[in-house]
Amino acid sequence: MIKETDVVIVGSGAAGLYCALNIPDHYRIIVITKKQPEDSDSFLAQGGISVLRDNDDYDTYFEDTLKAGRYKNNKDSVEILIRSSRSVIEDLVRMGVNFDQDGGDFSYTREGAHSVNRILHHKDVTGKEITEKLLEQVRHKSNITIVPFVTMIDILERDHTCTGVVLRDKENAISTISARAVVWATGGIGGLFEHSTNMNHITGDAIAIAVKHNVKLIDMNYIQIHPTTLFSKGKGRSFLISEAVRGEGAILLNKDGQRFVDELLPRDVVSAAIHEQMKKDGTDYVYLSMLHMTKEKIRKRFPNIYEKCLEEGFHLERDLLPVTPAQHYFMGGVQINEDGKTSMKNLFAVGETSCNGVHGANRLASNSLLEALVFSKRAALVIGEDLKNATRENEAEIVDYTQYENTEVLEKEYHLLVWNEISKGSVEYAGLCKHEG
Ligand SMILES: Cc1cc2nc3c(=O)[nH]c(=O)nc-3n(C[C@H](O)[C@H](O)[C@H](O)COP(=O)(O)OP(=O)(O)OC[C@H]3O[C@@H](n4cnc5c(N)ncnc54)[C@H](O)[C@@H]3O)c2cc1C
Repeated sequence: MIKETDVVIVGSGAAGLYCALNIPDHYRIIVITKKQPEDSDSFLAQGGISVLRDNDDYDTYFEDTLKAGRYKNNKDSVEILIRSSRSVIEDLVRMGVNFDQDGGDFSYTREGAHSVNRILHHKDVTGKEITEKLLEQVRHKSNITIVPFVTMIDILERDHTCTGVVLRDKENAISTISARAVVWATGGIGGLFEHSTNMNHITGDAIAIAVKHNVKLIDMNYIQIHPTTLFSKGKGRSFLISEAVRGEGAILLNKDGQRFVDELLPRDVVSAAIHEQMKKDGTDYVYLSMLHMTKEKIRKRFPNIYEKCLEEGFHLERDLLPVTPAQHYFMGGVQINEDGKTSMKNLFAVGETSCNGVHGANRLASNSLLEALVFSKRAALVIGEDLKNATRENEAEIVDYTQYENTEVLEKEYHLLVWNEISKGSVEYAGLCKHEG
């Protein structure tokens, strides 16, 4: 394993990859990632990525984001998000990302709480399309090395300055890399929940390490529950039925086949209405109906969802689909400024791990891929500037590896640290919680 570099980025989702691509080429970058590079929530994103359609859309986009976020958003961050959106999309298109077209223009779709159609998509596999193209670009760069199947288990620190990372590899060997800057791009916390749309290995590791090292956290109780995942009695990741399906007209029905909520209200409102309805009906799910759509239309617009439901025995053009809410997104996290800086020197955080208040208390649909890209680019540019002037910090003290030897104990300890932080605030996650404490 490499012992020393300029920048270590932890995580190979959209935020980590786009950050790596935007750091100047003359710096050496190592991207470490827990599983295969493709194993990220970014890869799973279905619905799309929001964009400011034109200047006339600014006020409504701003208001939609604030309204969904229950007006708890940081308005400066929201402004940056929206104003930077078109240039990020242009950059993605330049890299070969293929958004669906409609008569020579982008095909814009809509999801809950958006007042106009402003979401770009690639069928129903937008995240895969974007992340694959980012990975392709990263693999062409000689200054970036991706190291898969390596887990960050701690950071190196001296005098509240981050000087590197402590890692565990597939064979359980522990090592360190010292670096002039470290970027946390480790995604959300879904792996801690019994029912979540997230990949199981995404367990908020950076949050636990932040607690250990007194790195500031914020809004830890802001956790988004997605209203519609495919109901299943089995264990494992909950399969998401994208909000874009409701955006295209699908409706929610109770056990008697009656509508009970406006399907395009913000996610927290729809999730609460479903919970309420399930209680009334004495069921573990409600139904989603796409019966107004033809098989051809569903297969063309939502091929991935159609195939997955078929595997589970549901023909969407003729069957009602049982759906239930599940943990989906983490709005809180490691506190950062608008350039990804955390409260520790030389330590940055980007994407879902981080929080600059852009989403407020509840994320507007399809704002997260955009947020991951907009703010990771800003962090990359600042890292480039910082490195110009920075001398290498003194090495951290020799690490005592024995503290990490028992993987199971360490994992449990880290999960508890995250749950403790979450539990300090009030949050509705009844029925979704994996941790017994
Ligand atoms: C099913 C689903 C559908 C979604 N649909 C949409 C959508 O349509 N539009 C939208 O905007 N957003 C959507 N989202 C949300 C969005 O995909 C994520 O918020 C966003 O992609 C997060 O990107 P990220 O780079 O921050 O993290 P991720 O993409 O989750 O990447 C995290 C990375 O960190 C690595 N990692 C974690 N811990 C460690 C560790 N300790 N050591 C080393 N590596 C580690 C992981 O292996 C992974 O590579 C969806 C999410 C899900 C789950």
